[in-house]
Amino acid sequence: MAAGARVVLLGPPGAGKGTQAKLLQDTFGVCQISTGDILRKAVAEKTPLGQEASQYISRGALVPDGVIVNMVAARLKEKDCESGFILDGFPRTIPQAESLDAILQREGIALNAALSVRVPNDVVIERLAGRRTCRNCGALSHRVFSPPKKTGVCDRCGGELFQRDDDREETVANRLKVYSDQTAPLLEYYRQHGLLKEIDGVGAVGDINARVLAALGGAAK
Ligand code: AMP
Repeated sequence: MAAGARVVLLGPPGAGKGTQAKLLQDTFGVCQISTGDILRKAVAEKTPLGQEASQYISRGALVPDGVIVNMVAARLKEKDCESGFILDGFPRTIPQAESLDAILQREGIALNAALSVRVPNDVVIERLAGRRTCRNCGALSHRVFSPPKKTGVCDRCGGELFQRDDDREETVANRLKVYSDQTAPLLEYYRQHGLLKEIDGVGAVGDINARVLAALGGAAK
């Protein structure tokens, strides 16, 4: 890791963190790390990590901090993270945030910003109910707001679009509760560290991206 954009994205499930993280990756030429994507890949490949994680993911609970922190620490050491990173879905608890600070401190670097994408619960529920993910490339679409040209087929790579099990209504309610209980306290944590930026996450992807870039301003270069 070296100097560059080092940003944490915060917000409830369905806030649009994944979409914005992918855009920021291109804008800043840094790596994008989605702990949810890494875990889902491990589950699909039935690795030991995946087997352990699937019991938590399927009920919308958090995977234990130790497992996640080791996973992120290893990923941050990879070459594409040398000029910086966009973290999507990590940290999700105060102990994870403290571990991240310790990892970065050992490298002699620090975060530039923690950006909170604010979206009310009713919008989150509407977004997650219609969200579809490409099994092949991970691209996101929405049945109503950004439908693919051909139903069930990814516009980007032609892969199969599917609904994540944990985007079903029963699990979404639990994920929202986990967010408010365990992850929302991070807003205060980063506010106290002088790193918190907040934007309104409701609207079109391009408009939200403009807000994200304005909020990061000089923070991420
Ligand atoms: P996401 O794709 O970020 O919504 O994550 C999907 C699921 O993966 C979550 O509901 C958790 O079960 C698990 N997960 C992802 N990131 C973390 C994390 N930082 N800490 C604990 N569990 C996580």
